[in-house]
Amino acid sequence: MDLNEKLLSFISRSPTAFHAVDNTAKALAEAGYAELFETEDWPLAPGAKAFVRRNGSSLIAFRVPEERPTGFLLAAAHSDSPCFKLKESSVIQSDGYVKLSVEKYGGMLCAPWLDRPLSLAGRVTLREGGRIVSRLVDLSRPVALIPNLAIHMDRSANEGKSYDAHVDMPALFSLAGAKGPDALVAEALGVKAEDILSKDLFLYPCTPGTVWGAENEFVSSPRLDDLQCVFGCLEGFLQAGKSACLAALCVFDNEEVGSSSKQGADSSFLTDVLRRVCAALGMDESEYLRCAANGFMVSADNAHAVHPNHGEHADRSERPVPNGGVVLKYNANARYTTDSVSAAVFSEICRAAGVPVQRYSNRADKPGGSTLGNISLTHLSLECVDIGLAQLAMHSCYETAGAKDTEYLVRAMKEYYSRSLRKTPEGISL
Ligand code: ZN
Repeated sequence: MDLNEKLLSFISRSPTAFHAVDNTAKALAEAGYAELFETEDWPLAPGAKAFVRRNGSSLIAFRVPEERPTGFLLAAAHSDSPCFKLKESSVIQSDGYVKLSVEKYGGMLCAPWLDRPLSLAGRVTLREGGRIVSRLVDLSRPVALIPNLAIHMDRSANEGKSYDAHVDMPALFSLAGAKGPDALVAEALGVKAEDILSKDLFLYPCTPGTVWGAENEFVSSPRLDDLQCVFGCLEGFLQAGKSACLAALCVFDNEEVGSSSKQGADSSFLTDVLRRVCAALGMDESEYLRCAANGFMVSADNAHAVHPNHGEHADRSERPVPNGGVVLKYNANARYTTDSVSAAVFSEICRAAGVPVQRYSNRADKPGGSTLGNISLTHLSLECVDIGLAQLAMHSCYETAGAKDTEYLVRAMKEYYSRSLRKTPEGISL
C-alpha cells in the first residue's frame, strides 16, 4: 500500500485518542510486541519487545537491546486532536430538534466544523458480568451536523465571526421522537443502554482524507496534527535496525489541553515505564541515570507551513513549506527544546537518511505554542529536539500537509532508531 494511503487509513480508523492508541497497539502486536500491564509484573529479558497503555489513550512501546542498554532513544508524538466532547447529559430538545451539547476539547478553529457531516466515537464504561469494563465505540456514519446560520439572518457573517461553544456549537442530531445517542451507542456495542455507566464521547468529521494537487503534492485529512507524526514515528520505529540503546516510542494523550493528566506527557508515565524496564533488567538507579544522560528524545508534533495567502505570519527566513522535509522547531524561550547540540545530532541523522531539513521559529513578535518535549524534560532530563512536518490550517478539522513529507519522517525515524548514540566528554558519536 502507498504510504499516504496507509497514513489516511490509520487516521480514518483513529477518530479519537483511544482509537489512535488501539490502532498503534494492533500494529505493534502484529510486529511481535507483547502487551504489558502496569498492574502486573514485567518479566523482561534482553531482546524483549513490548508496549504498555495507560488510560487506553497513551502508549509507550519499547525494544530492549541484547546487551544492557547504554542509553535511551526516545520519540514522542500525541494521540489527541482538538474536537468537541459530548457532555455526559448531552441531549437538548428545542423546536422539534434534538441537539447534542458539547464542550471544546483543545483550541480548535470552530468555523470548519460547521455544515460538515459528523460522527460520534470514544470510550464507554459499562457494567458487564459483575465488572466495570471500558469499550471503544465508533458509530462510523454521519449522525450529527452543526448548521450555519443563513447569510440572510446574519449579514455580517463574512466580516469576522466569533463562536460561543455553548450557543453556536451544539450539534443537530435528530428530530424529536428519534433514538438518543445513548441508544445508538448501546446498539453499536450490542449492550443494554441501562448498562452504560459513563462515556467519553467525541464528535469527529466524517470527511475522508485525500491526496490531491496538480502532481498529488498534498495530503489533507482530519487530525494530521498529530497522527501524521504518530504514524511516521511508529513506522520508523518498526522498520529500524538494532541499537545498543533502549528504543522507545511514546504516544501521549492530552497534549492539546496542556498534558497534565495521569496519562499525558506531564505525568509519571514515561519515567514509570523506563524505571520498571531498567529494574526488570537488573539495572540500578545509577545505570538508569547514566542511560538518561546518554539519551535523546525526538518530540514530534507538526509545524506551521508558510501560508499561501498570509506569508506575513511567518518569520523572515525560517519559512517551512510542504514537501520540504522534516522541520526543526526553535524557540529562544525553550518552548521548543531544540538547541545547537540536538539540532546537530538530528540534522546528521536526517542527512544520513537522505531527508531534507528545514527550520521553523515564530515571528519574534509572536509567542507561538508549545508541545511535548519541554514538558517531558521536566520529568526526565536528556537531549531533545522538537521536530514536525510542515502543515497548513493547524487545528482545523481538515488540515493539509505535504504528501512527500510522510516518507521523509519515516526515513528519518528509521535512521534515528537504528543508531547507538554515545556521549563522552570528547563528544557525541552516532
Ligand atoms: Zn500537535
